[in-house]
Amino acid sequence: MFSVFKRKGPQHVGVHKVVISQEYHGIDHRNLSDGSLKVIEVLQNAGYEAYLVGGGIRDLLLRKHPKDFDVATSAKPMEVQKLFKRSRLIGRRFQIVHVRIGAEIIEVTTFRGSTSNNKLRRTNASGMLVRDNVFGSVEDDAVRRDFTMNALYYDPSNHEVLDFVGGYDDLEDGIVRIIGDPETRYREDPVRMLRAIRFTGKLGLSLEDGTSEPIRRLNLLLRDVSASRLFDEILKLLQAGYGRITFSHLLRHSLLKPLFPNTFDLLESSDNTYYRELIDLALSSTDDRLAQGKSVTPAFLYAALHWPQVHHRWRELTTEGHGRTQALAIASSETLDLNQQFIAIPKRFCTTIREIWDLQVKLEKRHGRRPDSTLEHPRFRAGFDFLLLRERSGEIMAGLGEWWAHYQVSDEFQRREMVASLKEEFEEAPKRRSRRKNKRRD
Ligand code: ATP
Ligand code: MG
Repeated sequence: MFSVFKRKGPQHVGVHKVVISQEYHGIDHRNLSDGSLKVIEVLQNAGYEAYLVGGGIRDLLLRKHPKDFDVATSAKPMEVQKLFKRSRLIGRRFQIVHVRIGAEIIEVTTFRGSTSNNKLRRTNASGMLVRDNVFGSVEDDAVRRDFTMNALYYDPSNHEVLDFVGGYDDLEDGIVRIIGDPETRYREDPVRMLRAIRFTGKLGLSLEDGTSEPIRRLNLLLRDVSASRLFDEILKLLQAGYGRITFSHLLRHSLLKPLFPNTFDLLESSDNTYYRELIDLALSSTDDRLAQGKSVTPAFLYAALHWPQVHHRWRELTTEGHGRTQALAIASSETLDLNQQFIAIPKRFCTTIREIWDLQVKLEKRHGRRPDSTLEHPRFRAGFDFLLLRERSGEIMAGLGEWWAHYQVSDEFQRREMVASLKEEFEEAPKRRSRRKNKRRD
């Protein structure tokens, strides 16, 4: 798959360390960011070890366009700060220095090591790392990283790649392999399970057996991860251009259950296929938009990911006698409230998600001037697109979407005609509601 690796000829140094020279790895210096090269130069001139590491190097070896470059160094955070005026110490669990070079922000981490000193490195009852600020050598740092392909160090001064964990070979074989004992490493940080899935989806690699096997067993450990960190991770997973394939990997590895338990149950239990179809369509449309350089919003994605629960509850409540508008409002609030404990969606997105859902009933109402005010709704476009997904998924019959597509491009005269010729088939059922009210009074 990666023809560049065919010319490999790593030079083995000592027992574990492998040095791969430029003529073999073929990384083009011009593809490295100026800011990160500058940071490394300053650190090395001050007598510290410093390398480019992580996703940037991995992506260059895969001949992909890197998102960013991280720097790893022997300099302690305070020493890094002394060398760069425009720098800031961030993080408590893992201290990192952000160095600003021009418009770039370079993340500089100090080599991490291992210790039994639990003031510096602490795990909780389930083995999760809650603090990790022990410093060590570059070899120590390599084994503390997550996957072998993410632990390759590039030294810009001699263009060599250093590999302590077999990452270069794994990358050549297209394999994602966790470093060390898989179960221990997943317990230390359950998000590594999501990262494993993310890299297989995004880079088209496969999970090594030992790396994939414990995931199914340990999936519920994700419940211990903070709901706000999971929000960020989900966006990296599903809103980074490879959402549809990544979602299928999540399902296959039993990782949907801890993240979206209600959606998971409905996908599992219902014999209809339209919930899965709707989510797949939403993910594909997000992937397509990203590929075309268009904007995307987490609100649309989450509106789809939680829709099975909303829709299911909406139906239940209308069967119980609530009007469609009220039932949808209750189902929406319940769904958002219940799921915040798993994945914390920021408030501003919740508002938009609710609006997209609200529009599903507003779009049904087409008498009088209603369609004109719906058309003015600030989220009309998103609500309309969502309706089209529901139709395409087979959840509702096609027709309403086409009506709205036509209405949008019609003139005033045509619009009046469209409204007049409508049978009000999607109206609320006031009779049922009043019967219920009477019942309650009894
Ligand atoms: P991306 O291209 O998505 O940025 P990345 O591998 O660079 O992928 P980052 O989150 O930027 O991911 O992390 C940078 C590096 O830090 C990783 O390559 C890996 O070496 C290390 N790392 C990140 N998260 C973890 C983790 N949870 N456990 C261990 N090492 C990690
Ligand atoms: Mg990165």
